[in-house]
Amino acid sequence: MASRQLATELEARDVAEAARESEWAGSSFVRELFLGRLALDLIDPYPAADPAEEQRAAPFMAKLEEFLRRVDSDMIDRTGDIPEEYVQELRDMGAFGIKIPKEYGGLGLSYTSYVKAMALVTSKDGSLTALLSAHQSIGLPQPLKLFGTDEQKQRFFPRLAKGAISAFALTEVDAGSDPANLHATATPSEDGKHFVLNGEKLWCTNGTRAELFVVMARTPDVVVKGKTRKQITAFIVEANAPGVEIVHRCRFMGLKAIENGVIRFTNVKVPRENILWGEGKGLKLALITLNTGRLTLPASAAGGAKALLQASRWWAADRVQWGAAIGKHEAVARKLGLMAANTYAMEAISGLTVGLAEREGYDIRLEAAVAKMYNTEHGWRIVDDALQIRGGRGYETADSLRARGEAPIPIERAMRDSRINLIFEGSSEIMRLFIAREAVDHHFSTAFPLVDKHSTGAQKWQAFLSSAKFYPVWYATRWVGRGQVPGAFSEFGKLAGHLRYVERHARKLARNLFHAMVRYGPMLERKQMVLFRAVDIGAELFAMSAACVRAKADARAGHPNAVALADVFCREARIRIDELFDTLFGPNDDSIYRLSQQVLRGEHSWIENGIIGLHEEGAVEKLEAAAERETVGA
Ligand SMILES: Cc1cc2nc3c(=O)[nH]c(=O)nc-3n(C[C@H](O)[C@H](O)[C@H](O)COP(=O)(O)OP(=O)(O)OC[C@H]3O[C@@H](n4cnc5c(N)ncnc54)[C@H](O)[C@@H]3O)c2cc1C
Repeated sequence: MASRQLATELEARDVAEAARESEWAGSSFVRELFLGRLALDLIDPYPAADPAEEQRAAPFMAKLEEFLRRVDSDMIDRTGDIPEEYVQELRDMGAFGIKIPKEYGGLGLSYTSYVKAMALVTSKDGSLTALLSAHQSIGLPQPLKLFGTDEQKQRFFPRLAKGAISAFALTEVDAGSDPANLHATATPSEDGKHFVLNGEKLWCTNGTRAELFVVMARTPDVVVKGKTRKQITAFIVEANAPGVEIVHRCRFMGLKAIENGVIRFTNVKVPRENILWGEGKGLKLALITLNTGRLTLPASAAGGAKALLQASRWWAADRVQWGAAIGKHEAVARKLGLMAANTYAMEAISGLTVGLAEREGYDIRLEAAVAKMYNTEHGWRIVDDALQIRGGRGYETADSLRARGEAPIPIERAMRDSRINLIFEGSSEIMRLFIAREAVDHHFSTAFPLVDKHSTGAQKWQAFLSSAKFYPVWYATRWVGRGQVPGAFSEFGKLAGHLRYVERHARKLARNLFHAMVRYGPMLERKQMVLFRAVDIGAELFAMSAACVRAKADARAGHPNAVALADVFCREARIRIDELFDTLFGPNDDSIYRLSQQVLRGEHSWIENGIIGLHEEGAVEKLEAAAERETVGA
């Protein structure tokens, strides 16, 4: 097989950095948190429900709920297909155009209403969520709303609102987490009126049912300041255009009916007017689309968690073993209590982030990334606990339970369906890298040129001046704050102590990040184990803040026992945070990394004796070729 041209690490970083949103469009609570400031005024009061919007959304939500109660999700899971009648019903109620403005035939509802709808759908059926969300969170409606011209909006929104399904095609065989390796090309025609698209996209959700694609492809490189720069452009592509072909429908562990496939484009003529935003802006468009589209998964994970909590609660109360309901035994009780507290915090994070997204002057890219990472990971733990609480019945399929006369509660399906949440729309690792990069952005732009071997003398001097101006005051003030004042944040009642903790530990986090920069210099970027722990601390502090501001609002709105949920959540989060601080600089990190590299080189392969291997044929040759590439590259 011809060897594929893979981008080097430096190229990958250059492309990602060029596509990054370098400007902050507004304030960010999480960004401030990483700088050691608890900017509570940015998130308190917790976003309140808008009664007018709720009234507008009510008829649609009622139809959606009534539909979902009738949907046979076990059949969808069993057959791996969503019947066309279901899709048509969803079209008829406007479910494909929830956020599309009314003037284009959509429902014109808010982001908040949209994610509420997605949470409702997930509580019943993950495959349906994938269909609706791939279309509206990352499919054409989202980039069209953000970057489309008026003409493009007129042309496509009405079709999309009526249910012309769309798909987002970024991933390729060599371009998963790393978009620099994208190989699809779009070559301009001689008269410049169209582009000729060639390439193959992998795992394109809705791809097997879509009428419209957003396709990211490479257009001719440009030279910027003497450096060749890869160009990636986003195109709207009609699925029925000659040369568009569904090569394969992918099947997965869960989301059995997801319409996901490999899509091949062979000499597909795409008119120039189908470029979204502009030539060379495709990767940035894809990243911004994902940054905002990412709000669906946190809400959806929270919706799923609520359904699991309910099923676990009922079972833990009903199932009697060893003379008592299993929910009375401490081991199960602990799971149930934490499930409720975590579900509460997950919904707080999701509701807060979406609420902020709808406020003017707020940049939610960090909050959205934390929400995606945190809620999908907690959601996964919740499904695991729910399965454990249901015992053998948790592991049994709904069909099998029904066949022998028991309630067909589909925990097994929920587990299969939810695992992918930690991988797509930015894996947990990529979210942590992204959060770490954005969280240290201020330090990066202030001080990085001082230690960057590529910066010029003038850049170093400038960085020295900015650092001398910023750091002495900033660092000194990271040692004192409101969290040290007894009785501070008393407006939060019983939760005040948790907010004092958040304030103190935000400063501690900022100081430690600064120490890490001094300790590792430019190498910090490679210290993922340290950075990821710092990110996890920041995420926990955000989660605690979200839970506390929500509980304050809920208590005022007639749910005083919300304080108990937030309190238990915060107590447990504090234990996790303390442990993360204790191990921040990972005493075992070097040993673990060294061992992993020995494992990669096969030095411990002797421990794999006595098994039937899972590897594919030719794997050994592939590994040898990779080792050779590394030697040549070194
Ligand atoms: C069901 C499903 C639906 C999907 N839908 C779509 C879609 O609609 N459109 C679309 O374009 N794509 C879609 N994808 C692709 C999805 O977004 C990718 O799977 C995801 O981006 C990860 O890429 P990958 O699977 O190739 O993993 P890889 O990039 O190969 O990564 C493998 C592992 O290494 C980790 N890793 C990678 N790089 C780093 C690093 N620098 N540091 C630390 N860890 C790292 C990853 O987190 C992961 O754990 C879908 C995938 C699936 C399975």
